[in-house]
Formats: sequence, structure tokens, C-alpha cells
Amino acid sequence: MPSPVSLLGLPYDSSSSFQRGPALAPPLIRQALASPAGNLWTEGMTDLGVPGRLHDAGDASLPEGPDARERIEAAVAALLDRGFRPLSLGGDHSVTYPILRALGPRYPRLTVVQFDAHPDLYDVFEGDRYSHACPFARIMEEGLATRLVQLGIRAMTGHQREQAVHFGVEVQEMRRWRDGLVPPVEGPVYVSFDLDALDPAFAPGVSHREPGGLSVRQALDAVQRLPGPIVGADVVEYNPLGDLGGVTARVAAKLVKELAGRLLE
Ligand code: MN
Ligand code: MN
Repeated sequence: MPSPVSLLGLPYDSSSSFQRGPALAPPLIRQALASPAGNLWTEGMTDLGVPGRLHDAGDASLPEGPDARERIEAAVAALLDRGFRPLSLGGDHSVTYPILRALGPRYPRLTVVQFDAHPDLYDVFEGDRYSHACPFARIMEEGLATRLVQLGIRAMTGHQREQAVHFGVEVQEMRRWRDGLVPPVEGPVYVSFDLDALDPAFAPGVSHREPGGLSVRQALDAVQRLPGPIVGADVVEYNPLGDLGGVTARVAAKLVKELAGRLLE
């Protein structure tokens, strides 16, 4: 019997460096997921509408600023204690660090697969060690993951390159992308999906549009090919204020659906 999946909304964007907006995302992703424009079957033929498969824990109640991190960690720990595999709806990417504070220690050989245009490995960004530009530096420093594999990267900087080498991060740059690639990982795997990994043509509703990214199909294929088990995931950085006609909400919901299917395996 697979563990049930629980959605958890994390309406938090005070650690964004450029634009606010991702705090508005969770209800809009849920709305797209429930829309009669689609259904709850995954491409792999799992019906997420069957009772007991996809639970919804609602949105965490989060204050502005640093106290939010403890609340996120506690909310994820509570879901894990109840036997759920957490699927979090961001929020900006800073939320992944407290999520992994709860989840990482429960999986001693955890691999994190990060889809992102950006490495998010800054030691400090604009004076903030917990900025959405820094979460994977904190995660690796604290040993919350054994391996970090990054896909879709196309906005590397000198400092972050040094950080990647320092932490042994396996960076698969977008310019070397090959279709059909099977991310070289072994389970247990946690997937952190920053929507700006996608080309802004497919997902304009993000704060940091970075051209030259993945198509939705390429991203779905990579999610579907990932060796499992996948034990947790997040879909972050949806910024409704930059969206066009809700297209990015649909993309986020599609990813949530396919990730939920993988989490149920
Ligand atoms: Mn990111
Ligand atoms: Mn990003």
C-alpha cells in the first residue's frame, strides 16, 4: 500500500529578492488542479481522485519573516508523522530549506533533484542567508541531503560555481540538455521544482524569467523517468502577478499531478 500524498500550501514570499507574488500561488494552483478543464488522472493512469490518495492539508499559517521557517518545518513534520508524503505548493524557493529540515533527517541517503534556472547556492544574498537565492547552500551545509542534482541550470555565477564545487553539487546545465535524459539518481529522492526551470514561453508566471529553458514536455519526461522512490516534492516560485491568462497555474497543476502520481508509487 503506497503512502498517501498530502498537499500543503506555503503562502510565503518574504524571502524573494526581486518581486513578491508567490505567496498568492497555493489557492490558484489548487483551483487549476480542481478545474473542470481537466481531470485528476495522471499520464501514467493513476486516478488521484480515488479517496485516500491525495489529501489536502490546506495552507500553513505563516507570518512574514524568519518565524515562518519554523512553522513550515513543523507543518511538514506533522504530515510525515501522519504517514503522508508531502507535496508542497510554494511560496518562494526559500521554503525548501525548512521542508528539508523536517524531511532530510528521516532519509539518511536522500538525493534532492532540483529543477531550476538558478542554482540557489549563494552563501548570502543581499544580506540574507535565507533568501530564495540561498536554500541549497543551507541544505548542503546541514547535510540534509546526501546528493544534490540540479537540472535546467542556465544562470550560473562565479560564486555559485565555487559553492557547487565545494558542496559536490551535480549541476546538469541546460546548454547540455539532451532529450531522453534519465537523471542519474537512486532513491529515496526529493524533487524541488522551481517553475523558472521552464522556458518563460511555457511558464511566464515567475519572478525571474530566464529564457532558454525546458519545455513542459521535457520537464514532465524527466519527472516520469526519475528513478524512485520519490518521497516528497515541492512546486515553487509560481508568481500569479506575472502570469498570462492563468497558463502557468495550469502548468503548475500539471506538474503537481504528475509528481503526485510518482509519490504514490
Ligand atoms: Mn529556485
Ligand atoms: Mn529559479
